[in-house]
Amino acid sequence: MTHPVPSERVLPTLNNDGTRRWVRPKLYPGRYYKRRVWVGWSLIVLFVTLPFLRVGGKPVILLDVPARQFHLFGTTFLPTDGVLLMLLMLSIFVTIFLITALLGRVWCGWACPQTVYMELLFRPIERWFEGSRGQQLKLDREGANARRVIKLFVFVILSVFVANVFLAYFVGTERLARWVTQSPFEHPAPFLIVAVTSALVFFDFAYFREQMCTIVCPYARLQSVLLDKRSLIVGYDERRGEPRGKGRSTGGDCIDCKACVVACPTGIDIRNGLQLECIACTQCIDACDSVMDKVKKPRGLIRYASEGFFKTGTRVSWFRLRILVYPAMLLVLLSALFWMGSSKTEVAQVTVLRGIGAPFVEQGERIQNQVRIKIHNRSGEARRFELSLQGAGDSELIAPENPVNVEAGKQVTAGAFVLSKRDLFDNGVMNVEVTVDDGEGFTKHVPYKLLGP
Ligand code: SF4
Ligand code: SF4
Repeated sequence: MTHPVPSERVLPTLNNDGTRRWVRPKLYPGRYYKRRVWVGWSLIVLFVTLPFLRVGGKPVILLDVPARQFHLFGTTFLPTDGVLLMLLMLSIFVTIFLITALLGRVWCGWACPQTVYMELLFRPIERWFEGSRGQQLKLDREGANARRVIKLFVFVILSVFVANVFLAYFVGTERLARWVTQSPFEHPAPFLIVAVTSALVFFDFAYFREQMCTIVCPYARLQSVLLDKRSLIVGYDERRGEPRGKGRSTGGDCIDCKACVVACPTGIDIRNGLQLECIACTQCIDACDSVMDKVKKPRGLIRYASEGFFKTGTRVSWFRLRILVYPAMLLVLLSALFWMGSSKTEVAQVTVLRGIGAPFVEQGERIQNQVRIKIHNRSGEARRFELSLQGAGDSELIAPENPVNVEAGKQVTAGAFVLSKRDLFDNGVMNVEVTVDDGEGFTKHVPYKLLGP
């Protein structure tokens, strides 16, 4: 059975017959690449060290999903801090909108872990083992050799490392160290998590690669709404380059050498205009600049400028309404975030819950209510919390552990019984306050309804 063959390429990573088109970019170590190496390696060092850093005894970043706690820069966010988290997320989104409106996809090309690890770690290792673009393409045609197999083995080791760094953000370095050092038979589930994450990282950097940016990443798709004619992009100066042609006598500065195309890690031709596959990595700038140097023409046929400038040839102001609106929104969001965050000075978060089972138990003239007092110690040190009852007449609060010891940052649920005289209840209810006091200035009164006959 024959399939219809499209007249033009559908995706830069697909051949017309549907097979994978491997992109083997040629490296042009120009001025932008050298800057990206500095920025990228600084970020890799940051990615790797951040999970180990502490602020006030807490991890700088720990997104502890199983414990439903996010630690960010010394502040712990609990599920009850939904408003704060929402403000934080909105602030991040507005910052992304602002940066993209001004600087285009600078995040993708300079700071995204996908690009940074791929272009500055995995790709250089690949070139070291397999040689130049031409040699890599030969291997694609003729089949893998021993060097490609060894490279894949090195990729496996690197993937395990990258996966462990990634997981450290979610499980913390202490737990991860236990997972790594103990036998997989003692911890089969964590072992499986590390193994699957490592396999996904390997799949991404050894096989999937640029398709993560061109097919999966939603940010590329948002480009059309986030960018406008005044945003900074990496673009081809068509007015200067066209008509293109081999040799130097065609009129335009582009000699159609395709250096910019073979340099592109997403496999596109920048001369076709702004494309969602372009991650603004600047490799085509370095490639074209090296060509312009050779043909003794000014650099910058491909360069950073706004789309408006490329179209009209005249400078367009970067100023527009949304450049005012985004910072104003950010100011409001961050003010609300800091105001709410700093007014939340509580040492501990206290929740009083009804005990499991019958709402109350009758014991002759006395009524017994079972309560659970959940105390989350948000301070940086262990505390002892004294439990007591207010507004309950001569009712007794009986707790097996009182005061309750809670380690720094930990949560304890203390069980307790309240024994009350039957006549203290009004229509089956007695409004009381459960008080939790650490003896060091923190007191919390939580209103609670005891139930009776
Ligand atoms: S590298 Fe420059 S000169 Fe060569 S094809 Fe690309 S734009 Fe034209
Ligand atoms: S077109 Fe240029 S800037 Fe865009 S991804 Fe390709 S090489 Fe990078």
